[in-house]
Formats: sequence, C-alpha cells, structure tokens
Amino acid sequence: MKYKAPRGTRDLLPDDIWKWQRVEAVFRETAGRFGYREIRVPVFEETELFARGIGDSTDIVRKEMYSFQDKKGRSLTLRPEGTAGVVRAYVEHNMGRGARVTKLRYFAPMFRYERPQAGRYREFWQWGLEAIGSPNPTIDAEIIHFSVKFHESLGLAGAEARINSAGCPNCTPAYNELLKKELGPRLDEFCADCQVRFERNPRRMFDCKNETCHGILATAPSILGSLCDECREHFDAVQRLLGEMSVRFSVDESQARGLDYYTKTIFEIHHAGLGAQSALCGGGRYDNLVEELGGAPTPACGVSGGVDRLVAALEGEGAFPEGAPGPDLYVVSVGEAAEPKKASIAAALRGTLAVDADYQGRSMKAQMKEAGKVGARYVLIVGEDELARGVAVLRNMETGDQEEVAIDDAPAQVAAKLGGTGER
Ligand code: AMP
Repeated sequence: MKYKAPRGTRDLLPDDIWKWQRVEAVFRETAGRFGYREIRVPVFEETELFARGIGDSTDIVRKEMYSFQDKKGRSLTLRPEGTAGVVRAYVEHNMGRGARVTKLRYFAPMFRYERPQAGRYREFWQWGLEAIGSPNPTIDAEIIHFSVKFHESLGLAGAEARINSAGCPNCTPAYNELLKKELGPRLDEFCADCQVRFERNPRRMFDCKNETCHGILATAPSILGSLCDECREHFDAVQRLLGEMSVRFSVDESQARGLDYYTKTIFEIHHAGLGAQSALCGGGRYDNLVEELGGAPTPACGVSGGVDRLVAALEGEGAFPEGAPGPDLYVVSVGEAAEPKKASIAAALRGTLAVDADYQGRSMKAQMKEAGKVGARYVLIVGEDELARGVAVLRNMETGDQEEVAIDDAPAQVAAKLGGTGER
C-alpha cells in the first residue's frame, strides 16, 4: 500500500519552503506598516457561517465546500476563504467597540473542492487583510495600494490593479433586470450552470470558467451604467484617491467576484506571467456582511491573495536566484577521535549560528561534497592530522580561502569570523 497526498493537495518541502517564508515575512512587514494586526481563526467553522456569508448561489457554497458532520452531528466546513471567519470573530469579540476601525491580517490555508490544475489546488494558502468599520473610500484605496505595493516589494514589477464596482442592493435589481433582458435571448448558448445562475442570480454568470459563456458575457452591459448616485460617487472617489497616491490601475467593467458579499469597490491584481489563472489577489468592499453575520451594521473592505500562485509567479520571474539558504557552518570530522570535538564545537556555536555536520562517519570527500550540496557558507575540518597538531581548518566555501584555528579556541574564532558569539 503506497499513500499519496490527497488529490489537489501537495507537500511543501524544505527545498521550497524558504520561498514561502520570504513571502510571509514581506507580507507581515508590509501589512504591519499599513497598520494591520494578525488574527488566527479556526480552520473549520459552522457550515451555516459560510453559506450565509459567501452566499448560497456562489460556486463555493454550491459545489466546493469540504463539509462534514462531527460526532455530535454538527455540520462543520473547512474554511474556503478567510473573510467569513474573521468577521465572525470580529462580532463575537465585539472588536469594533468605541467605533474604531479594526484592521486585521491573516496568512492561512483554505480548502475548496475544485478541479485541480496549474495554479488551482484543493488546499491552498491565502494572505488577506480586512479593514472593518468605515465606509471611507480612503480605506478601499489603501487596500488596493497595499496589494500593488506588496507584490512590488516581492519583485513583481508588472502587478496591475483592475477595479470595478459591484454596486449595492439599491442598484443591483436594475442591473439584474438589464442582464436578464440582454442575456435571456441567448440563454440556450450558455452552459447548464449558467442557466441555473441566470434564474437565481444572473451576476454570478460572470464567475463561469467556461470559454463560450465568457465570450457571450463580454458583450453584456456593464454595471457601471446602473450604479446609484452614492455608489457612483464612491467609485469616483476611489479612483481620484488612487490617482493622488500614484497607484497604477485600470477600470475593468467585466470584472465580477465569485462571492456574494461584495458592495461598491471590487478589484483584482493581475500578473501577465501567470497565464489563464492570472489573478494574484482580489477583494473589495463588503458593507453588509457584518450585519448579515449577526453584528451591528458595519461597513468594511478587504482583500485576499493566493500564495501558491504568488510563489509560482515569483519563480517565473526568477525572483529566487540564490537557492535554499544553507547553514553558516558545516563541521567535517575524520576519525573517531575527532567526533567529540565536532560535537562540542557544534554545541558551542549553535547559540548564534546555524551549524550542521555529518552523522554517518563518511569519508572526508563525501562530507565536503555534502557541505557544498547543503549550501554551507563555511566548513570547519577537524581531521586526524589537524587534531594531532591541536588545530582545525576553516574554509570559506565561496572563495576557497582556508585558515587554521586553534581547536580549543575554535568556537570563539569561528564566531568572530562568521558574526556569532560562540557562547552556549
Ligand atoms: P477568492 O477568495 O476566490 O477571491 O480568491 C482570491 C485569490 O486566491 C485568487 O486571486 C487566487 O490567487 C487564490 N485562489 C483562489 N482559489 C484558489 C485555488 N483553488 N488554488 C490556488 N489559489 C486560489
């Protein structure tokens, strides 16, 4: 019996994980500078939370949730996205008391039963921001600015914001009517899913991944013509602010997001290098969700991005030229007598330096080869001859320069050379 990771999931191995860690570090630092604090919420929530929050007519709720019953018969679901859980926590802990704007960030795995393909997985990671408590278009512009800036900081110069408006409950009925009128005569050309969407919520047709449906929808009227005055003014203000802030953007009238909760601003950041799945992140305003999930009426805006796709885009751009980081020092020892010395030198240096060593009594040649393979900056050779003379040889793996150090003083000398303290 051979076990494999479940379809649509994958292992992130040590040779790759450092790329993810770098993305997370830049995310943490950039989001911190924008004033977003980290929140961690459960991996699973009550199914009802997502059904209500994301919307019954969305693909996520209809087809993609990993739902199960626990031993007490409760229906629970692995989170397919981050916003519903964060809003649940915001309401549960009354985080908005004092009428403050609450700015939260997360970096966590999500689960959707989708057809796996390049850039699409069943377990994938998302970074996200939520700013809860203000209708001010400055928040929308700030989140779009963050989204461009974050990708630029990582080295994706070609990241571009595409924005649109989703309107609000005041303007959507007129738009839905218009869509039905325009698309109705061609309904039989759409896929079976879209025909259901047409009846339930015609705007969800824009989420379809089918090419034919896409082609017809490209001719559909834009929502921008149906916006109420308030939504129109808000959308204009967001664009003005982005201009003031020198954030590159374009208006994409065909953009629709696959979640029901959006109102007013919606946006995506795209990267040409990603092909068909070019969206790096998407977000927008969700002014009614907090109330929908049991809180007081509270406007909010957020964004979430796919980390798997981001790492792929960065790899495509050659943003990781240096390879996985190796240890500072690899201690090579030859002969049994040198073993305790190797152990004590490694022990003394591990307070400040990353130190690795051979554990298999392999030949000196094999150990040197291994040190090169793991990318060690320096090697300390404790050989039989050296030990007899009371010295060890320190080799700079990049330049090939070598020098002898007194073996009893080796931790202090190596630490001085490499920048650690050599203390235990
Ligand atoms: P959404 O929550 O659907 O708005 O998606 C936000 C972002 O998450 C997208 O722009 C993608 O980068 C990423 N994403 C969504 N679904 C998947 C998936 N199945 N696999 C990998 N990344 C995904």
